[in-house]
Order: sequence, then C-alpha cells, then structure tokens
Amino acid sequence: MNKKEILDKFSADPQRYYNVNLFEDQGFERKSCKTCNRYFWTLDANRDKCPDHSDDTYSFIGEPPTSKRFDYTQSWKEVESFFVKNNHTSINRYPVVCRWRDDLYFTIASIVDFQRVMGSKVTFEFPANPLVVPQTCLRFKDLENVGVTGRHFSSFCMIGQHSIPNESGYWKDECVNLDFNLLTQQFGIDKKEITFVEDVWEGGGSFGSSLEYFVRGLELGNAVFTEFQGDLSDYKTLDQRIIDMGAGLERFAWITMGTPTAYDCCFGPITEKLIQDAGIDANSSVLVPYFTEIAKNLELYDDLSQVRKNAIKSTGLSDEQINRIITPLEGIYLIIDHIRTLIFAISDGALPSNVGGGYNLRIMLRRIVSTMDRLKLKFDLDEIIDIQIDYLKNTYPELEDTRDDVKEIISIEAGRYDSSKQRMQKIVSKLDKEPSVTDLIRLYESDGVTPEYLKEMKVISEIPSTFYAKLSDLHQSKKQKEQLTLPLEGIPDTELLFYGDDPREFSAKVLKVFDNFVVLDKTGFYARGGGQEPDHGKIAECDIVDITKHGNIVVHEIKGEIPKEGETVSCVVDSTRRDGITKNHTSTHIINTSARSVLGSWVWQHSAFKEADHARLDITHHSALTDEDVLKIEQAANGIIEKSIPVKIENFDRGTAEQKYGFRIYQGGVVPVKSVRIVSIGDLDIEACGGTHVANTSDVEQIKITRTKRIQDGVVRIEFVSGDGAKEFVKKKQVDSENKEKEEKLREQEKERRLEQRQLAKERIPVIAKSLLECKQGSVTIDDITMELAESGKANFCYSTSDNYDDVFHIGLGETLCKTDPKLVYCGLFEQGEKVRVIVYAGEDISKEKSAGEIVKSISQILGGAGGGSPKFAQGGGTDKSKKEDAIKNAKSMIIQ
Ligand SMILES: [Zn+2]
Ligand SMILES: [Zn+2]
Repeated sequence: MNKKEILDKFSADPQRYYNVNLFEDQGFERKSCKTCNRYFWTLDANRDKCPDHSDDTYSFIGEPPTSKRFDYTQSWKEVESFFVKNNHTSINRYPVVCRWRDDLYFTIASIVDFQRVMGSKVTFEFPANPLVVPQTCLRFKDLENVGVTGRHFSSFCMIGQHSIPNESGYWKDECVNLDFNLLTQQFGIDKKEITFVEDVWEGGGSFGSSLEYFVRGLELGNAVFTEFQGDLSDYKTLDQRIIDMGAGLERFAWITMGTPTAYDCCFGPITEKLIQDAGIDANSSVLVPYFTEIAKNLELYDDLSQVRKNAIKSTGLSDEQINRIITPLEGIYLIIDHIRTLIFAISDGALPSNVGGGYNLRIMLRRIVSTMDRLKLKFDLDEIIDIQIDYLKNTYPELEDTRDDVKEIISIEAGRYDSSKQRMQKIVSKLDKEPSVTDLIRLYESDGVTPEYLKEMKVISEIPSTFYAKLSDLHQSKKQKEQLTLPLEGIPDTELLFYGDDPREFSAKVLKVFDNFVVLDKTGFYARGGGQEPDHGKIAECDIVDITKHGNIVVHEIKGEIPKEGETVSCVVDSTRRDGITKNHTSTHIINTSARSVLGSWVWQHSAFKEADHARLDITHHSALTDEDVLKIEQAANGIIEKSIPVKIENFDRGTAEQKYGFRIYQGGVVPVKSVRIVSIGDLDIEACGGTHVANTSDVEQIKITRTKRIQDGVVRIEFVSGDGAKEFVKKKQVDSENKEKEEKLREQEKERRLEQRQLAKERIPVIAKSLLECKQGSVTIDDITMELAESGKANFCYSTSDNYDDVFHIGLGETLCKTDPKLVYCGLFEQGEKVRVIVYAGEDISKEKSAGEIVKSISQILGGAGGGSPKFAQGGGTDKSKKEDAIKNAKSMIIQ
C-alpha cells in the first residue's frame, strides 16, 4: 500500500478524517500549499504555504515565538505536568535496549514500549490509559548529520502521548485539543503560529490518518490515529484503535530557547563547559545566521556536504571562521550527543561490540575518540559523563545507579580503540585508491577501520552520506527462526505435568502418531526449550530420543514399537537425568546473578545450555574473565547455595510482571505469551523462565566453574557443573592433582637414578674398557659385555644386550673403546620402557667400510623400528623385544662375517 494513495483518499474526505472539534471551535482554515499542494490547517489568514515552504521557516532561531524559556529538563517538567493535570498517568521510560521485541535491538519510538509480538501479530499492552512517557529512543540512520545539522541526535526523548479510545481514554478530538493547549497554554505559543498538516501512517498491516503540528517550520509532534486494517479497497476499523502521538522533547526546548542549534539547549551545562575548554567564541554573531541557513537548506537538499556548502556561501563565512568556530563546534556537539546515547545504552545493559546492536555503540565510541583526535580536543570522558548524568538524572534518576559502569565500559572501549590504531595504520598504508562505500564497509567490518579514522588520516575527505545508513541496515534486524511444520492441526494443547505435581511415572492417552513421533494428552516429560535439554525416559516400552514443543503441543520422538493412537500408555521419566538438569538450570540463574554482582550491571544472559552432567551460561561482558573473576563468581554462587534461599515460581500477567520487576526478567529472551512464569531466587535473581527448578538453592549443593572462554566480542562462556557433578569434579581434580604429584615423584626418582648411573659409568667404563681391550684373539665376556675379534684381524666387534646398562653407559663405553681401537664396532642394545634401543659406535678405520648408520638401520629393521646416523655414531630401535639376539647376530655378520 502506498502512503500517497492513502493520503489522497483521506485528504479527499477531510470532514471524516481530519476535521476535529478544535478546528471548528477555533475557526481553523484548511488550505492547500501553494508550492506542494499539501493540505494544512491554520488560523493565520496570510499563510498560504505549508511549513516546509513558508518564509518563516526556522525564524525561531535567535527569536523564539514563546514568552517562556525551557531547556530540556524543564520542558519535560512542563509537558508532564500538563498531561498529568489532564488525567494522564506519567510512566517511566522503558529501556533503550528493546528486550521485549525479537526484531529490534533498540527502542526506536515510544509506541514500541507497548507493542508485544505474538507470532505475526502485534498487540498493545498499556500499563495505563491515557498515558505519557519520556521515552529515550535510539536511531543510528542519520549519524553523519549529528552535530552538523543542529537538530539530529543519535538518541532523543520522544514524548509519547498514548490513548486507547474507551471509557478512560480518548480519540482524535481530545488528542488534538490537548496538543493545541499544550503549545498555547503551557508553552505560551501564539495559536496563529501553529500549523497542522494532513498526513497518514501505515505499517504492519494497519494504517490511519495523522496530523503533524509545526511551529515556524519545526515539526514539534505527530499525532497518529491508528484506525484501520486491510488495504484501501477493503479495510475495516481495528478492534484496538490507538493514538500514537510522538513529539520530540528536544524540539520543544529548542523552540522556546531559540538557540542556534537544538544541542545548545538540550545537553545541559556540558555544552558550555566544552566550548569554553576548547576556547571557541560561542557568542559569535555568525552562529544564528549559519545554523538558520543549515536548517533551511536541509529541507531542500539530501546531500549534507551540499547543505553545508550552501550555508557557508550564503552567510559568507571565511575558511578561518569555519575552522575556528563551526568545525570544532560540530565536533563538540557530536561528542556530547554520542556520549549521551552511550550513557543510556550502557545503563540499560548494552555493550559496544562488533556484533548485533553493540555494533552501533562501538561506531559511536570510535567517532568520539577520532573526533577528539582530529580536532586535537583533550576532553576528560569521565568528566563529560559525570556532568551529563548530573543533568539527565533530573528526568532519569535511574542513571545514577550505573554511573561507574558507564565510565568503566567507555574507558575500556576507548583504550581498545587507541591500541588498535597501529594496526589500522598498517592497513591504511596499503590502500592504493580512494575507497568506495562498499570498501569502507568492508574495511570497518573486517578490519575495524572507521571512516572517521580515514578522514583523520586524510584518505577520504568526506564520509559518504550513505555509509551509516548502509551499515545500520546490515545490523538492524535480527534473524527470525524457521519453524518446522508438523501435522498437528486440531490437536489440543498438551497438559504439562511438570508444572504441577511433576510425577515421574504417569499414564497418558496417545492422541497422534506420525513417523517416530507421539503426541500425548498430557506429559511429564520436559521438552527442549529455553536452553534446557529434553527429558529422557520411556513411553510404553519405547525409549525417548527427543522432545520438542510446537506452540503448546509437546511432540515426543521415540524408538522401538510405536504405540497406537487412542491407546493409554504408561510413562516413566528418567529421574536421575531430570534432577541433574534441574540443578544445572537453577545454577544458571545463580551464576548469572553472581556474575552480575561481581562484574557489573552490563552482564546479561546471552544464551544458556543445561544438560544433566554439565551446563554453560554465556554472558555479556567486555573482556575475558580473569582467574580472580572466576573465583569470585564461584564464591558468590556457592554463597547463594549456602544461604538456602527458596526458589519461588509464580505466574503473572506479562504487563504486570514487567511493571513489577522491570525488563531484567527477560534474561532468556522475549516471552511470546500473555502469562509469564516468574522464577525468583529471593530478590537476587528474578527471571521469566519456563524451565524446571529446585525448591531451594541448597538443593544445588555445590557449583564448580570448570572453564571459561571469550567466545565472541562482548560474550564470555562460563562452563560449570553442579550437585553430584560438582562433587565428582572436585574429587577428580583431587585425584588428578594426586596423580600429578605421583608422576612428579617418579620423574624425580628417575632423574636421581640416571645421575647415579652416570657416576657409576664414569667409574666403571675405564676399568671395563681396559679389560676388554686386553683380549688379543677369540672372544671375552666381562660383566655381560662381549668382545669378539675377527680371525682376519681386520675388524673387532664388541656388544652387549644386558638391560643393566643404559644409553649413558653405552655412549661412554662405545666412545672410549673406539678411540683406542680404530677397527672396533661397538653395539649396545637395551630395553627402555616398551622399546628396545640400539646405540652403535664405529672406530676411525672401520667406519669407512662399515658405517654405524647402516648397521643401526639394519638392526632397527629387525626390531621392527627405524634408526640412523653418521658413519661413526648412530642410534635407533624398535618394539620387538624377542628379536634382540637376532639383531646382534645380524650386526655381527655385517662386521666380522
Ligand atoms: Zn508545501
Ligand atoms: Zn531459566
């Protein structure tokens, strides 16, 4: 469906879609813009163009149209008090990390707070009606505009005014009335200044009319009336009509202050401080005309560098003024904006990384650091964070709790960027042409080289305007899981016995059988889910292979003779397995909260896996865990076990659970059902969880962390065992360390023995050698060493196969003998462990004909092994101990025939 088509249709019938009581009562006139033909409503008889094309566009800069002046904090107080006075409930902002939606990393609009996705349907859950919320929203599409345009932010406060038309809520007439009174009564804006422009909204299969309201060309808010579903040819009114009025708080402040940019009145005292520190003349008369031109040109051109060029040209700024005032100001605005966004994101548990939503956070941090480097600004990031939180906590007091955590994360990230610069420099030096946008994305994705760095290094002159939009697209939405389709139509939901009495033996009726799959009317077997592995056991006489849940139907995969439909079967749960898994599941919750208390508020469950004999929990954390971290987490976990805290399980309506416990409950991800099962360990850990749990933490008995590993950027895996598994692990560790001790002792003894041998050899070798060399013909054997002389007198052979001698002895004796007798070949054969080793020496003369290497090769072959060496010295061996005598015979035949 095309927005233009809807608008044409709705604008053709203004009475039905746009004319509200206020317009009648006040006498608003409906006009069509002279330039673009769009319809708008005004009290100003002279106005003939829509706000985009009017002459007074952005004339509030330097000359605000209100009698009152409110900055960011004060503006919210005004908005809040107005709506509360008019029967609205003011609710706290929701986290900027959108834990309740699978398809979004960050909260991008106030209405997202109340949207819950169930299957393909979006439903709305309002904690109050009507309500107003100061919702911080993160948007990364326009990053290159931030700091430059005067009005783009990476995060902003959307004033959400939401109502469901029923006995407590209202519809169009009341909504537009309220918004008009907010502007005129609370903010003191002349009613003639306000223009309502006809527009439409469509998304997710529904659509409706909307009225955007402007003052001096600045869009302050947009009241969307989500009313219909279907398409233009055939649509009907929604069961649940919704008013989604979103207004930018930053713009409310700006219109009353009339500062050159919205940044000047929305960041609190930090802006002035940094401008002073940098020595910029902020009172310069060039600022108002320059930023007014920027704002006007931004409506006309898409290309930001073109907008900037035009503004410079029409205000006649010199290069010197640009470099001294405008460029550093843009940098300061960027730095403050980006830090403000990081404060919210990190406070709500997001970490900069190179994956998922963390990606944009890392980009921003690197932009902050590069901008400071490029402009040679020396700011203290901690100080900026402190001043910002001091200001923001007027509206968002919860930011105080995470002040130190924000500082820690930002300092770690900034440090990492600094240390990665050398690497980047190397990569950049290899570039041989100006990189394209695709190149830039690849350079960032695979090498972490930011375009800001390239700009700083003067590789590129400007960052292409499409860069951040493309990057953001790549990392915007999460993948949806594929659903298996099984023939389950018409089968009623399975009754889950493990949420009740949890019997380990039960009988059930077979409702459906297909392939190896069985569906029962009720089951006590836990199906794979939430990282918990499925139960095992028997259905009739069949072993269970796997169990999965499809919607609310549990499907058992079994092997053996499959029961028939309609039969009643008896079932037995493998209790030992289940108990192991259950302990590990409760342990996962215990370790999660322990890790958070030891490491910091940024720790969230990333994913988890619970088997009977082992489990793992992946948590979000910026660095690998140190031994000290691991020890502390383990101690904290076992402390929770020792305290014997009851594990409480309660069911809540989802909205109630969120309001009562906050979004920390979604550790395991989104819960796609109306009723949530809350598992709480005192007030230490409260999670929405469908798994099985022990009744008291003491039932876990013990937790041992067996291994930890950084598995991806920003995620650390903790592997652990609990209960009997932990005890066995401790025992095994004990045995291992005892074995190690034993081995160490044996090694020590061996070393001593060799020393003794060496000493002995030193003393005995000269004596034995002397006696052997006294043999002048035939043969002689001394201490199991035999000397044989050839009848020809041309060769002598000395050998031993006794295991009383080792390598040290043979090497010593062989060398001694061969030095004295150049015709001698010495051959020592001895067993060492599983092997037979051989060492051969050959004297100077004989080595020329009978190489020691050749002899060893031949002997080793007989022994079933290999060996070799030089003509004078060689060694080798084999494993066949029965061939020792054969080997010597062979050697002898080679030497003395
Ligand atoms: Zn127009
Ligand atoms: Zn759980």
